Amino acid sequence: MSISSFVQEDIDEPPSLATLPTDSATTVQNSNSFPVSQLSHQFRSIHFPMATDEQWNDWKWQVRNSFTSFESLEQILTLTDEEKGFKEQALNLPVRITPYYASLFAYKESLYPLRKTMVPVLDELVITPGEQSDPLHEEADAPVPLIVHRYPDRALLLVTGFCSAFCRYCTRSHMVSKKDKMHAGTVQIKQALEYIRQHTEIRDVIISGGDPLTLSDERIEFLLSSLRAIEHVEIIRIGTKVPAVLPMRITDKLLSILKKYHPLFMSLHFTHPDEMTPESHEACCRLADAGIPLGSQTVLLKGINDDVSVYRKLTHELLKARVKPYYLYQCDPIPGSAHFRTPVEKGIEMIEQLRGFTSGYAIPHYVIDAPGGGGKIPLLPEYYQGKENGQVVLKNYEGKLFYYPDKE
Ligand code: SF4
Repeated sequence: MSISSFVQEDIDEPPSLATLPTDSATTVQNSNSFPVSQLSHQFRSIHFPMATDEQWNDWKWQVRNSFTSFESLEQILTLTDEEKGFKEQALNLPVRITPYYASLFAYKESLYPLRKTMVPVLDELVITPGEQSDPLHEEADAPVPLIVHRYPDRALLLVTGFCSAFCRYCTRSHMVSKKDKMHAGTVQIKQALEYIRQHTEIRDVIISGGDPLTLSDERIEFLLSSLRAIEHVEIIRIGTKVPAVLPMRITDKLLSILKKYHPLFMSLHFTHPDEMTPESHEACCRLADAGIPLGSQTVLLKGINDDVSVYRKLTHELLKARVKPYYLYQCDPIPGSAHFRTPVEKGIEMIEQLRGFTSGYAIPHYVIDAPGGGGKIPLLPEYYQGKENGQVVLKNYEGKLFYYPDKE
């Protein structure tokens, strides 16, 4: 099934683009009380002048009207030679960007972080040693289709290969956007649920993909209710980038479904503080108001968020939206990722520059998801310096040494 046919299957036909926009305010509210920031408003009035507030704030309209080709991107960006080079090349991961997210970088230069995360460049063709299409060996850890069972008491349930926007550094680019990995069919889902049912050691299920919140409300409810009916499944988690790239997906109807299946947690994928717009802030607050504990996962990316002041600002914006910065990931070595990857020392240095200098709540776990399926391995600065005369020697955030009388 192609992406477009999948979208047609799961998303209603587009309404006709009939009326001119009626608003001109800095931030407007649609019938679902969703804000539209000035940036989005300007972009829409130029590139989608016939779209109404209701259409712009309809997540299905956003998916249907996404930018999926270089020709469409050229309508909104002056592409550089580096970006244009891809016109003649086959992309492993196609282009897909929602109009909302495109509005955040449409008038910015090519090095602007949000643009770099979405618009392919020729560097993606440079394959360096150690890169692999499935570096985490998730397919090898799949006992049945859709399930990754690596840790004893947790399982990943990969319900779709579709996302509303495709990140160029995606660790699952081996499955995301692939024709045979689109929204999973009922037979596969039932088989995966049966696996979880039979494995009573699984107490925590992470629904991921692709992006599970691109599924219809009905499919999300089916998944959550089926998992909640399994007695040993204590908590359910959903991994999603929707609040950053398609915040209007967080509708009242979706929230009314989600809050029926607590304890439900969410891991939100945010990359840069400029993603925390009024729209994204609203989406996070709605999820928090529904009682869902929110954590963020951020991939450390060269030239995008590897400056501690940028990353610190992201953590502060997240906390203001009631999202705990949870993981900072070293970028996985997928093919063509060298231009995104930083040395590991950079991540350790960033944690050192956060610890003690901002709230503990703002400090994530810095981890490498070990190539070959070793799981997440935390990396920490050297605060523990060893023992001297029965005392533990500790280095604080300013580099000063302190001694703790250890118990023998
Ligand atoms: S949202 Fe996640 S799964 Fe989808 S393209 Fe981005 S990194 Fe990959």
